[in-house]
Amino acid sequence: MDTDLKEIVDELKRYMEFQQSMGVKTVPAQKIATLQSAPTVSEKTGPRTEAMAKKTNRADEDIITIEEPVNLFGAEIMTLEEIKEEIGDCTRCKLHEGRTNLVFGDGNPRARLIFVGEGPGRDEDMQGKPFVGRSGKLLTKIIEAMGLKREDVYICNVVKCRPPVNRTLEPGEMSTCEQFLFKQIRFIKPEVIVCLGATAAKSILRTKDSLGSLRGKFHMYSGTKLMVTYHPAALLRNPHFKKPAWEDMQVVMKELGLPLPNN
Ligand code: URA
Repeated sequence: MDTDLKEIVDELKRYMEFQQSMGVKTVPAQKIATLQSAPTVSEKTGPRTEAMAKKTNRADEDIITIEEPVNLFGAEIMTLEEIKEEIGDCTRCKLHEGRTNLVFGDGNPRARLIFVGEGPGRDEDMQGKPFVGRSGKLLTKIIEAMGLKREDVYICNVVKCRPPVNRTLEPGEMSTCEQFLFKQIRFIKPEVIVCLGATAAKSILRTKDSLGSLRGKFHMYSGTKLMVTYHPAALLRNPHFKKPAWEDMQVVMKELGLPLPNN
């Protein structure tokens, strides 16, 4: 088979397996026809995203618009309890080997705002809750500065188990676990998603673009506004990122109709 065709077939196979993992049992021919004529994305994004995302040049902005991967063939909405049950005592990837607790997510299941981080750290692994360590304390301060409480929002991560010594996630670990994040977002259906750091952005927006180029404007994930900003750990390492991060949060506050502070 010619190399290009083999790549397409392999890609399609991975994609169908992904859909199957999302609970999709049948594929209507009509939808396939729609997919074939779907717009393509920039060459910077991976092949798996091509049927799902497009970039729009609005004036000088570069906005990513992406379809919900869960929903392409009409998978059912699962509740958070059902998603948790489906994850179970997960051994799907090797991250489970070093896990003390699986960190599913925490907060208001009807939240208007979701924060998505990368993966649990040591404190989160110990307590089974997202963002409870140093980064978490800073995230709590940011949420409170927005005029909200932690219980008002929902907080979760791309992967649910702690990567050893907080190392960078491997692509297979992300692709195995992110289906549960997509399902969580699908159930909660927030008005705004905030990606904390490049890993969450990479997972949800299927992009390799830099955080600097993604932040400061809304992208669209399945009709939901999505802001990318610095991870709280980056803010702790580089306090000069705090100002742009706060500007990002003010854009989010405006969208949610929250009162803005007098700067
Ligand atoms: N960093 C993350 O990305 N997530 C957490 O839950 C904690 C730290």
